[in-house]
Amino acid sequence: MATATRALFMLFGATGDLAKRKLYPSIFNLYKKGYVDNDHFALIGTGRREWSDEKFREVILDSVSANADSEEQAKAFASHFYYMSHDVTNPEHYDALSDYANKLDQQYDIEGNRIFYISMAPNFFGTVAKNLKAHNCLSDNGGFNRLIIEKPFGRDYDTAEELNNALAKSFNENQVYRIDHYLGKEMVQNIIALRFGNPLIEGIWNNKYIDNIQVTLAEKLGVEERAGYYDGSGALRDMVQNHTMQMLTILAMEDPISFKDVDIRREKIRALRSMHVYTEDEARQNFVRGQYGANGDQRDYRHEDNVPNDSITETYVAGKVLFENKRWKNVPFYIRTGKMLTDKFTRIDVVFKKPLVDIFASAKGTESELNNNVLTLFVDPVNKIILRLNGKQAGQGMEMQPLDLTHTQSDEEKAATPEPYERLIHDAILGNATNFASWDEVSRAWEFADVIRHVWDTDKPDFPNYTPGSMGPDAADELLARDGRAWVFNSKK
Ligand code: NAD
Repeated sequence: MATATRALFMLFGATGDLAKRKLYPSIFNLYKKGYVDNDHFALIGTGRREWSDEKFREVILDSVSANADSEEQAKAFASHFYYMSHDVTNPEHYDALSDYANKLDQQYDIEGNRIFYISMAPNFFGTVAKNLKAHNCLSDNGGFNRLIIEKPFGRDYDTAEELNNALAKSFNENQVYRIDHYLGKEMVQNIIALRFGNPLIEGIWNNKYIDNIQVTLAEKLGVEERAGYYDGSGALRDMVQNHTMQMLTILAMEDPISFKDVDIRREKIRALRSMHVYTEDEARQNFVRGQYGANGDQRDYRHEDNVPNDSITETYVAGKVLFENKRWKNVPFYIRTGKMLTDKFTRIDVVFKKPLVDIFASAKGTESELNNNVLTLFVDPVNKIILRLNGKQAGQGMEMQPLDLTHTQSDEEKAATPEPYERLIHDAILGNATNFASWDEVSRAWEFADVIRHVWDTDKPDFPNYTPGSMGPDAADELLARDGRAWVFNSKK
């Protein structure tokens, strides 16, 4: 039986795209499942538009109806939503917000539990946090006050630190929930289950058995309508500093002493501390950037709408990351992410070492044809696990062939899998910060990314350098070839 939590949500950016597409459907699912207390919950949405409560509720109905069991259910849910037109830069507006929050708190008997969700452009994060505290929007009667904050968290170490200092004036670190929706994905969470629930896996999760680990976050589309934001960001900031680093950290961390958020965070931070931060020269050698060119009807990046035609923004990154500790000495973690690639998918390939001796080849006097064992975790678009072994070909003799052990999520499991936002909002309601990025993690990831960014802002790139529909520039293949390795997934194969 679900534990229902009383909560008053205050959502900044309630008329925005993210709210409509992800947040309302997620809160609705939590409501349906009984994770938010249906009698003791309300949401104040704010935005610049002059909407009435009725208009706001129409938008909510529009966003959740397809998933409702009945019209009454959707309407009952929407009746908990209240709208205030609000300019987040105007301090006076927060007094009205505070009064309204207190009124609804009483009306729904919410007992002071408040969740503030800032789903707005990042330059507003600090302003909102400051005014919330200064104008008594936080409850002070023993209920919880939690701040959920969208990405991006800064654009380099300095801006992230500035933002963090601004938040810290109003909220303690343990009240801040920094969203990284990759941490809400089923298979990313499954890494922890697989690693620490199976001695079979944990026993070989080290440099004695693992040759290298590859993490790929590929997108099939180009910048689409996000060009305005994306051109000022690029793939390193948009995908590597946050999502990719978080996945690497979970793959690399040591065993936490328990599944509690504080224990997991402690190990994630330790792993990030052991990550080698490159010098500029090392960054040049170990990171590759790319920008897509044209292909048939597909325009090159520089001719996409709202992109300057001399843009040097990277739409692709590949790199090698090293953890300098006993477990991972000499095991490279290769990462890559980009737009306009072969397909849309996220996968992790854990490549194991080959047997020291191939008895099958030595009996025949031939070269070894054994493949590396590979454990592949498919994160998107399907949740799937494949363990690739070497097995015997059917028939006489002893010819070897790859043998795949595959687990694919069933339809029932799929139906039971919440969307990342639903899972993360639920975690925040419960006060579980496991799947949110702490400041120590975010800041370390910026330290790492800043060196690469600085090199790329200084050196002139040779763009465009990859074809839409490929897996990126040749230099990304050379990065591994130099080490005598290759990407497990390679569209050229
Ligand atoms: P959006 O532009 O669609 O919405 C912005 C919201 O902010 C609107 O409700 C607008 O009224 C409000 N707003 C702007 N200026 C205001 C002001 N001065 N006072 C009061 N309200 C103001 O943005 P979005 O796409 O919903 O994104 C919101 C946040 O989520 C951003 O931080 C973005 O980076 C992040 N994000 C969005 C997506 C997505 O898919 N849309 C995905 C990941 C992260």
